[in-house]
Amino acid sequence: MSSIPESKDKPLFTPGPLTTSRTVKQAMLKDLGSRDFAFIQVIQEIRNGLLALAGVAKGDYEAIPLQGSGTYAVEAVLTSTVPRDGKVLILINGAYGHRMVKICKTAGIDHTSLEFPEDACPEVAPVEELLDADAAITHVAVVHCETTTGIVNPLRELGMMVRGKGRVFFVDAMSSFGAVPVNVADCRIDYLVSSSNKCVEGVPGFSYAIARREPFMKTKGFARSLSLDLYAQWEGLEANGQFRFTPPTHALLAFRQALRELEDEGGVAGRAARYRANYDVMIQGMKHLGFQTYLDEEKQGYIITSFRYPNHPNFDFQVFYKQLNEKGYVIYPGKVSNADCFRIGTIGRIFEPDMKALLAAIRDTLDEMDITL
Ligand SMILES: *Cc1c(COP(=O)(O)O)cnc(C)c1O
Repeated sequence: MSSIPESKDKPLFTPGPLTTSRTVKQAMLKDLGSRDFAFIQVIQEIRNGLLALAGVAKGDYEAIPLQGSGTYAVEAVLTSTVPRDGKVLILINGAYGHRMVKICKTAGIDHTSLEFPEDACPEVAPVEELLDADAAITHVAVVHCETTTGIVNPLRELGMMVRGKGRVFFVDAMSSFGAVPVNVADCRIDYLVSSSNKCVEGVPGFSYAIARREPFMKTKGFARSLSLDLYAQWEGLEANGQFRFTPPTHALLAFRQALRELEDEGGVAGRAARYRANYDVMIQGMKHLGFQTYLDEEKQGYIITSFRYPNHPNFDFQVFYKQLNEKGYVIYPGKVSNADCFRIGTIGRIFEPDMKALLAAIRDTLDEMDITL
């Protein structure tokens, strides 16, 4: 595979939206009616493709696409699968955990949280203790890859424990699904969400939930919102293959193409290999330039990496960002709460030569800023 200059747009080294292939963009050059038979087939292919990508069987799980960015799917699961007398335990080690708390607060859903440092993964023991102490908790929610830092939280032991305690396990796998292997059934995941514009490499426009049928079938009428009602969305899809309200037709067409390209790349394993290669080139080059990562290496995933601002009087992130941008490279600001960081994503339709070009641009920018690390 080579880095054919597929578009004149700047490559995005961000957590999404991401650089997409020319063929994914081309798939959008069609105006399909939302009730059109051809379009209903697109939705069906996507739903089946998502189940295949999750490695689960139809019959055990359902794939439910929903309009809106990733947060909409997180909000849909929280607001429409938790019963009125339910309570959510949210495990936090970054901004996206905090966002789930905000969603529960806004919707008036009973919740509690366990916060871990941003550079550490949630541990099973304190979660288990809390579940034993608080019988009201019905759901446990966690982020898989906390895009805040790039940390990848282990799911299996946690999911086994949560299921063992008779609770529902919800995973925000937004920035990892399709690129980090997860055995959904083995990890006892009841609900998993992601969106069209992350590692599947589609364009923004919708999100989706993979729902385990057994708990999901009991959630009719739980919703606190009409448009985010996951069960009603599923019912609509089952009844006539259609979204309840105007679907993002172009984004769905692009996504179908993106799923086919993911398959051609060797599925999750193939994509993981490319992203890991991107990450390896990037991390070696950044270390060589003198940058330090926020996370210890063993906790660092290959999706996105947080780097500390260099300790140099000339370093100014705004200038650094702007000068890189002018050279044609888009990186991402940091989100860590207790350290000044910026982020480099290694996902999307980017390849090792793109990473090398980015490193060269960073080196030149440091020179221009008169920074030696
Ligand atoms: C991107 C992302 C989201 C969703 O963000 P949107 O801006 O709503 O698409 C949620 N959780 C994680 C971990 C993410 O990386």
